[in-house]
Amino acid sequence: MAAGSRFHVNIVQTLARLKTEHAQVADLATAINLQRLRWVAPTVLLVNALHVLVLAPQLAGQPPEGLGYRWRLALLVAHGVMGLVMGVCALLVRRVDPHRAPLWARAMALVVAALGMLFAIAVVAIDQWITPNITPFLVSCFLLGVVFHLRPLPSAVLYLLAFIGFYVSMGLTQGNPEMLLSNRLNGITLGLLGWVLMVVMWRNFTTITLQQAQLVAVNLSLHERQAELEHLSQQDGLTGLFNRHTFVQLTGQELARARRQGSDTTLLVLDLDFFKRVNDTYGHPGGDAVLSHVADLMRATVRSTDLAGRLGGEEFMVLLPGTAEEAGRTLADKLRRQIESCPLAWQGTTIPVTVSIGLASTTAAQALDFEQLYRAADAALYQAKDQGRNRVVVQVTESNPRPAAN
Ligand code: GH3
Ligand code: MG
Ligand code: MG
Repeated sequence: MAAGSRFHVNIVQTLARLKTEHAQVADLATAINLQRLRWVAPTVLLVNALHVLVLAPQLAGQPPEGLGYRWRLALLVAHGVMGLVMGVCALLVRRVDPHRAPLWARAMALVVAALGMLFAIAVVAIDQWITPNITPFLVSCFLLGVVFHLRPLPSAVLYLLAFIGFYVSMGLTQGNPEMLLSNRLNGITLGLLGWVLMVVMWRNFTTITLQQAQLVAVNLSLHERQAELEHLSQQDGLTGLFNRHTFVQLTGQELARARRQGSDTTLLVLDLDFFKRVNDTYGHPGGDAVLSHVADLMRATVRSTDLAGRLGGEEFMVLLPGTAEEAGRTLADKLRRQIESCPLAWQGTTIPVTVSIGLASTTAAQALDFEQLYRAADAALYQAKDQGRNRVVVQVTESNPRPAAN
């Protein structure tokens, strides 16, 4: 590609990128402009009022003639009119709703900036009767860039029109040709530099806003990823139940809470019966499908406040907070029957599953910890296996001496 057309493509691409970026921050710019207008309009109104307060007594004590009188009167009128306009702006800006009137909300800052420029040009033109000073125009050119976020194109039009207005108005009131030329030349500098400042401020605002939005998005996705990883690290990969580590940790918390609240807690330890045979007959994929199936049944049977976990292999645990031994046994038996009555349909065949369950409970007064509770439930599980499997055995825990039953 020729250097010229590559340059052209680059320019087009850059302009398209800038346009997209500016569109992304336009709403925020409008909101900030409106917010700033809320204090800028009353502040300018205050400045206008102070000028009127200073000028009015002077006019009252002076004969209505001569350049000095004309200058004071013209200034007073200019400040009076601007004060009224700013008063109206201060009222309007409180009513404008960027959601219902987005165009008007967006245009408001530009309109006020244009009014500000017009006012500065009027004051500077009036001042030329007595001084070549153009400070108000200088202040206006630079202040607007600091106060408002305006896009480069509308602000270019604004500054161009302001310069033309300044150029013409200087010719109306500045009679000295050298001073007129000097002011007009200074006007070119002020208009151009003022616009450059406006563009620089706008680009800074755009870059910072987009970077902040990016940071927020990255932060959000990091949080989501972290939550996902946390969730995964707590889960058993095959069944989605809590893994051993998390189950033990959560059980510790539940037991501590039960002690404080004075409630009972029951632990079930489940072991699938003759699971080796399932693996031998259907292969490991069949065995894995059975494990997932049993986990689904457990999830569907226990309450959402109960904890279900996979210890490893084909052993599972369920913690029943706020549940005494008798209610725990009822739930355990319901679970056992549910598993027995729901064989897994797998690859055109059904795989029967039964489970043996050991149960142990603790009252708040007994205050058994996880290890004690687990040992007791595991001992009950062994008895369930010994007694022929597919049954629930309740282990008598210390200071709770009642006979074991199925
Ligand atoms: P019992 O009724 O006495 O419990 O008999 P069992 O065959 O279930 O005996 P045991 O507990 O000794 O056997 C557990 C088997 O579970 C051994 C192992 O092959 C199988 N197993 C352990 N983890 C997994 C797993 O993640 N997937 C599959 N498919 N099988 C597993
Ligand atoms: Mg086992
Ligand atoms: Mg087993």
